Amino acid sequence: MNNKIINIINKQALTAKDLSFLIGLEGEERNFFLKSIGNNYVDSLGKKVFFRGLVEFSNYCTKDCYYCGIRKSNTQSERYDIDDKSIIDAAIFAHQNKYGSLVLQSGERSDKAFTERITHLLKEIKNATNGELGITISLGEQSEDVYKEWFDAGAHRYLLRIESSNRDLYYKIHPEDEKHNFETRINCLKSLQKIGYQTGTGVMIGLPYQSYEDLANDLLFFKEMNIDMVGMGPFIEHTETPLYEHKDALWSLQRRFDVSLNMIAALRLLMPDINIAAATALQAIDPMGREKALRYGANVIMPNITPTIHRKDYTLYENKPCTDEGAEDCSNCLSIRVEMAGREIGYDEWGDSKHYFNRTKKKQ
Ligand code: SAM
Ligand code: SF4
Repeated sequence: MNNKIINIINKQALTAKDLSFLIGLEGEERNFFLKSIGNNYVDSLGKKVFFRGLVEFSNYCTKDCYYCGIRKSNTQSERYDIDDKSIIDAAIFAHQNKYGSLVLQSGERSDKAFTERITHLLKEIKNATNGELGITISLGEQSEDVYKEWFDAGAHRYLLRIESSNRDLYYKIHPEDEKHNFETRINCLKSLQKIGYQTGTGVMIGLPYQSYEDLANDLLFFKEMNIDMVGMGPFIEHTETPLYEHKDALWSLQRRFDVSLNMIAALRLLMPDINIAAATALQAIDPMGREKALRYGANVIMPNITPTIHRKDYTLYENKPCTDEGAEDCSNCLSIRVEMAGREIGYDEWGDSKHYFNRTKKKQ
């Protein structure tokens, strides 16, 4: 069996069948595969791991994705919107603590008050940090003009997960209506690339109805789309969402976790120069989940620096980690954990995706 794994690792072009095989590995063979990728990727990409301070600044959302705890129709969710000053203070915290970059994330809104507020905030953050803090945003689907306005205001990376690249599965986890359109989401990714963002996407792993083949095709989708960054992690059910009714048919949490690490390692094999984030959802299943991801292919980690009083309300899924720690506790515990995973922190570096510079031929 190990010979088969070695043959696949050495192949020039990976097929959906090869990837499905790797994604489904278990036991000793799985350990062999993960270790092979871990050793190789440190040799080629280096030991550095980059921090992005994550600010989940609002859980108001106009959409109704069937999996998400902050969906519009969840009346049990306590809504919040952090004021601009506290967001800028969090950015200054990230800068002073040499994180290099910030991620601003929220529920999806596209009204003018919201889009103008973000433009203003981006400029303020750039000013307050002497233009030294890299900014990633993850604010859902917007018009090309809005994406451009935010790019010009200082954001240079964007995260928009496709959630599943299988169109049929997409409509099993979203309402089939104007607000949740598969083609629109793909077009948004294309607009982001056209404007010049380093563009990130990703999927959830272990969704109801999802197969290894679907997941293999997700990885091939990232490659075909020439994506620069990927964040993907286990799906974790939330009681107040429609997908909760499938809870008994889901893979066990441990299986979702194991397959997520297999996906990360298989993606690192397929796309050696992209950035791969160790998703927070991994830590909801295994306390050392993100560090394990760093061993087998991930090179980005996103410490949560959202002011603590609001963290518990950004509850996308059950058991979300670090909801009661201050930003400082979070970063101290993380730096020790990164070192334990045999990695070094790229302090004060943006940690841009090498793939972006390779595909655009821009100078780093
Ligand atoms: N609203 C923006 C969007 O949807 O792109 C950004 C925020 S959204 C909460 C960020 C990500 O959370 C989504 O892309 C989705 O993959 C993830 N997420 C939501 N519910 C989840 C769940 N139950 N389990 C795991 N991840 C989940
Ligand atoms: Fe809103 Fe994003 Fe959650 Fe969908 S995944 S309901 S867009 S916050």
